[in-house]
Amino acid sequence: MIFQDPFASLNPVHTVRYHLTRALRIHGHGGKGPEQLQAALVELLGRVQLTPAERYLDVFPHQLSGGQRQRVAIARALAADPQALLADEPVSMLDVSIRLGVLNLLRDLKERLRLAVLYITHDIASARYFADDTLVMYAGRMVEGGDSETVTQHPAHPYTQLLIASAPDPDRILGSEHSLDVEGGDSGEPPSLIDPPPGCRFHPRCPHVMERCRTELPPRFTVPPAGTNAGANAGAGAGTGAEAQADEHWAACWLFAAPEGAAR
Ligand code: SF4
Repeated sequence: MIFQDPFASLNPVHTVRYHLTRALRIHGHGGKGPEQLQAALVELLGRVQLTPAERYLDVFPHQLSGGQRQRVAIARALAADPQALLADEPVSMLDVSIRLGVLNLLRDLKERLRLAVLYITHDIASARYFADDTLVMYAGRMVEGGDSETVTQHPAHPYTQLLIASAPDPDRILGSEHSLDVEGGDSGEPPSLIDPPPGCRFHPRCPHVMERCRTELPPRFTVPPAGTNAGANAGAGAGTGAEAQADEHWAACWLFAAPEGAAR
């Protein structure tokens, strides 16, 4: 697990050596003697590009920059020798200038160590950069999924469209052919998760809301590929109505249901 805030996830009264040694020992990777432990510590810091390790092992968190702290937190997560890493907004507390370095490190570790990384973020642009597949959540439910390029370049669910449209983009001019049709969809508040709205949870804010959206929870429908006739009309009720397969682009939205009277 990699936590969001490296300023809070490392104990300020302990050194880097303590944090990593504890994680190694708990998971049984500390070796049998001091030499093996030292070798394991050096290897961990090498994996997160904090070298030479001797410069970092005996310092306290306040002596490190934010990026260096997050690298120590990543090294601590690697001490468990995991097959999967849960990275909860791992760069959101870092300066913009060092985010890319930490993201590149995670991507390199993912490939070199053959790790599965579940990357949680509010920054959909970084999801496109980092992740193979993207799942979009709204109010505790997954509303759209597919490969990251497709989801970010051809968002299908009205919430994903709103999310992408709300990101500052100097190349996108309102009213241009590339701007997203989210007019009227930027009002309202996120719903209560204790008492969520019935039907589609996005319906109180959705510019395309229909009667059935207020009562019926939409299943996952296949999104027609962009560029096809169906794809061009998607969002206007011209979906196939097919339940989505695992590796397809899908959206949980009634706009992609089969038109009334069409065979499924
Ligand atoms: S199911 Fe209805 S309310 Fe929900 S996103 Fe689709 S059109 Fe909007």
